[in-house]
Amino acid sequence: MTGNQKPNRVVVIGGGYAGALAANRVRMRDDVAVTLVNPRPKFVERIRLHQHAAGNYDATVGYDTLLGDDVRLVVDTATRIDAGARTVELASGDTLDYDYLIYAVGSTGTVPASVPGAAEFAYPLAEFEQAERLVARLQDVPLSAQMVVIGAGLTGIEAASEFAEAGRNVVLVGSKLGPSLSERGRRSVAKALAKLGVTVIEGDVSSITANRVTLADGRFINSAVTVWTAGFGTPGLATASGLRTDELGRLLTDETLTSIDDPRIVATGDAAAPSGQPLRMSCQASSPLTVTAVGTVLSRIAGTEPAALDPVFAGSCVSLGRHTATIQISHKDDSPTNYYIGGRVAAKLKEAICKGTLWGIRRAASKPSAIFVMSGGKRAEHLTEAVDA
Ligand SMILES: Cc1cc2nc3c(=O)[nH]c(=O)nc-3n(C[C@H](O)[C@H](O)[C@H](O)COP(=O)(O)OP(=O)(O)OC[C@H]3O[C@@H](n4cnc5c(N)ncnc54)[C@H](O)[C@@H]3O)c2cc1C
Repeated sequence: MTGNQKPNRVVVIGGGYAGALAANRVRMRDDVAVTLVNPRPKFVERIRLHQHAAGNYDATVGYDTLLGDDVRLVVDTATRIDAGARTVELASGDTLDYDYLIYAVGSTGTVPASVPGAAEFAYPLAEFEQAERLVARLQDVPLSAQMVVIGAGLTGIEAASEFAEAGRNVVLVGSKLGPSLSERGRRSVAKALAKLGVTVIEGDVSSITANRVTLADGRFINSAVTVWTAGFGTPGLATASGLRTDELGRLLTDETLTSIDDPRIVATGDAAAPSGQPLRMSCQASSPLTVTAVGTVLSRIAGTEPAALDPVFAGSCVSLGRHTATIQISHKDDSPTNYYIGGRVAAKLKEAICKGTLWGIRRAASKPSAIFVMSGGKRAEHLTEAVDA
């Protein structure tokens, strides 16, 4: 069967970790014709954008090395989903018809309007074009000049470490260092940051100018360049298409990842909000989400009952430059345990995990069913608890 003859047309919007894996995996049925829409002709390794900005890694990869030969790649931006007509409108003016749609538009680097000067003077890092803008700016900033990274979550910690290892003078600012880490995990991160020469300041940012960051308690920090990593937003496509979302713009779905507005639309990755209680935005969560989302589409085609999302988490990995890392071991529900792995072993593990993300997508290109994810985290019980609480 050629693409034109295949009876089930699946369109995947967004070619990140979730969308690229979904496009490969949905070919588990050979009567599916899959089209992947993405604005860039290359895959962006977002989990390496801090390395890209610090100048030690090219975070783009050709889709020709990632996607199955029969995945049709359309380099374009989806501007509207017409759920009634089952079409996707593209920025180029073209339209794609679908039988099932996989919504995988990911997340964005958003700077809040509530912090005066942030939108004007801070450099977000969460998207490829933003990282490129930061690379260009850093070329004009001497290594010795002090720079500030705002947001002391995992992305901010990774970015600050990478810049410090590249020889920069870095101050990391956030309400709390590594809020998702255990006390012991946090101590390990703090120790590594100190070794790299990163100054950590806990406090809330109240305003930013071209050369200064001011905190709510009146303290200020000189900054030749300010990087913003505090929190992600999401693309507005679902909202623009009249589909219901959570307050951040993630598509609201049931536990099979089906849109609460339309049974032919499923969501995965950072852009999914199952039961309004989304998983932590992460590359890690994109695999179990995608396996469930694709399973739902394939069940609908087969006329069987789709399975509910039930992921198991093992931990979160935070790189601290190229030579050390902290791996926070988590409970199955993603909350931190008291255990962590640190040092060079953790750095090697983290590097293997980063490489593994691409390996997994490539594996599904050659064998669509290849990816296995663990289930049994008892999400349903936690959801019930949350509703009852
Ligand atoms: C610096 C940094 C470090 C990180 N480190 C880690 C880490 O160590 N571990 C971890 O688990 N997570 C990490 N993350 C988070 C991780 O990158 C994201 O959670 C992950 O990329 C989500 O995958 P996704 O496929 O849902 O979305 P994305 O990877 O964001 O892919 C979405 C794709 O959809 C495209 N798209 C958007 N809108 C449209 C549209 N309208 N039409 C067509 N295409 C569209 C986007 O351009 C993009 O290509 C990090 C993030 C950053 C920024």
